[in-house]
Amino acid sequence: MTFKLACGDVMPGCAAHFEADTQGELMQQVGAHAAADHGITEITPDVAQAVEGKIVRY
Ligand SMILES: [Zn+2]
Repeated sequence: MTFKLACGDVMPGCAAHFEADTQGELMQQVGAHAAADHGITEITPDVAQAVEGKIVRY
């Protein structure tokens, strides 16, 4: 299964896209990007839920 996320769906205006084989790996990529580009160093349950709601699985 592939997990994909467009950061722009969570953070309007961001063009970053992520793709991984597992949701955990995807969340790691998103977490690193959020810290580096959005200054979000802590993924709170609210943020994680918003992100997970936008993940496309196929
Ligand atoms: Zn972003």
